[in-house]
Amino acid sequence: MGKTTGFLEIERHDRSYAPVAERVKNYGEFVIPLADPELRDQAARCMNCGIPYCHGTGSAAPGTPGCPVNNQIPDWNDLVYNGDWEEAARNLHSTNNFPEVTGRICPAPCEASCTLNIDDNPVTIKTIECAIADRALESGWTKPQIADHRTGKKIAVVGSGPAGMACAQQLARAGHDVHVYEKFAKAGGLMRYGIPDFKMEKHIIDRRVTQMEAEGVTFHYGVNVGAGEAGADPKALLGDYDAVALTGGAEAPRDLPIPGRELSGIHFAMDFLPQQNRRVSREPLGDKPEMLATGKHVVVIGGGDTGSDCIGTSFRQGAKSVTQIEIMPAPPEHENKGLTWPNWPMKMRTSSSQAEGARREFAVLTQTFTGSDGKVEKLNCVQVDEKFQPIAGTEFTLDAELVLLAMGFVHPVHEGLLKSLGVELDPRGNVKANLGDYQTSLPKVFTAGDMRRGQSLVVWAIREGRLCARSIDRFLMGSTTLPR
Ligand SMILES: Cc1cc2nc3c(=O)[nH]c(=O)nc-3n(C[C@H](O)[C@H](O)[C@H](O)COP(=O)(O)OP(=O)(O)OC[C@H]3O[C@@H](n4cnc5c(N)ncnc54)[C@H](O)[C@@H]3O)c2cc1C
Ligand code: SF4
Repeated sequence: MGKTTGFLEIERHDRSYAPVAERVKNYGEFVIPLADPELRDQAARCMNCGIPYCHGTGSAAPGTPGCPVNNQIPDWNDLVYNGDWEEAARNLHSTNNFPEVTGRICPAPCEASCTLNIDDNPVTIKTIECAIADRALESGWTKPQIADHRTGKKIAVVGSGPAGMACAQQLARAGHDVHVYEKFAKAGGLMRYGIPDFKMEKHIIDRRVTQMEAEGVTFHYGVNVGAGEAGADPKALLGDYDAVALTGGAEAPRDLPIPGRELSGIHFAMDFLPQQNRRVSREPLGDKPEMLATGKHVVVIGGGDTGSDCIGTSFRQGAKSVTQIEIMPAPPEHENKGLTWPNWPMKMRTSSSQAEGARREFAVLTQTFTGSDGKVEKLNCVQVDEKFQPIAGTEFTLDAELVLLAMGFVHPVHEGLLKSLGVELDPRGNVKANLGDYQTSLPKVFTAGDMRRGQSLVVWAIREGRLCARSIDRFLMGSTTLPR
């Protein structure tokens, strides 16, 4: 603990944002980092708690308090306070492969669990994490960790999101020959094609890919495993490799099959968002018609991260208005700490995108879409009660020339890869595997990330990728020294 009385003397102070009028003019990141003296002060607030809930419990249950990758937060807070940034970076990378990613886009369950959050003033853990990670990359402290021996074992990882990347990196560091198969043109999964550049610029992923290639990982792009003639044959992978990790994410979107759904102008969020990310990175847009919010009234259906990303993207494209509707009732402004802490609380949160001028409506059900000439023009909505039943007399309409469906994902895509392998699914339609060894119903086939747990967070994908790698290493070698 750097400064014994730090938490009594120093107020919480966090990163700020560029003004809205400025930031919506481009797709660049707009978070303004803290200067070194401020970071030192913020790290000094850490109390080095006897039970540091920020650090996590090690449990994989959804909603479990603290950091899913068990970052050693009090340790690196102390190191930053004492100016030993290089050791802080070493410590941080010992539990997290991509802290510059989580330092930008993690919702930070660690801060919700921080003891100082009982008083609404948690340590600025995420900001300190991001500062350590960025400094490590800029200072050349993230040199490739090339294994000093080769095991002669070959592993295929299908999908290059955070789960696949973390799994592949850990396995390469253990000396295995790792091949990552990715259906898109570049690596990163939803970090690259879902999360907009204004939340995280993509050179961040490129740097890690370069590091991983130097560590011996081979990336095969444009290979959709299980997509028939266009892709690789999953069964052939089983023959060619000693183990296979399935990390293809949960890509089947939840639809809204109501009258008018066939009108043009109604799109899944994950058709709309990747197009903009591809425009920014000058990749071809793909096979879908071009979707733009420019000059349109936009309605986003769904209140989560994906919905927020649609809002920020629509404003940057020049939407006339953006309205977000959510079927759930508005959560309370403040949580009851006595009931919620140290768990993740349900409370009203306003994302940076929502703060750019979106209108938000809660407890709203869309009953039909209507329009003319085959194009959507209106949403016909109604307020709902606590049982999601329509309240008579509360019907209203919203103008909508572009509707974005951001209601989440139901499970992984079953057609292709999973069906042709014949892997067993759990009752929710995710790939079945236990948390002890991440092994599926098939011998030598493992799974991790959203493909196993359903839609989740990058930090959980990193955790599962790391633990899956440990399990594969143990399966191939009889024991493992890979860290968890
Ligand atoms: C729009 C959006 C915004 C989000 N924002 C955040 C956020 O701010 N913070 C956060 O923590 N989480 C966020 N999430 C959730 C987070 O991105 C995911 O939980 C995480 O990326 C899951 O990682 P994954 O590696 O399991 O899967 P994914 O990231 O989905 O990666 C799976 C990869 O597998 C590839 N693939 C699939 N099938 C095949 C196949 N058959 N052959 C070859 N390749 C295949 C896909 O192309 C993809 O690249 C967001 C999600 C979305 C959709
Ligand atoms: S819970 Fe908060 S104050 Fe306690 S060790 Fe973790 S970061 Fe520091």
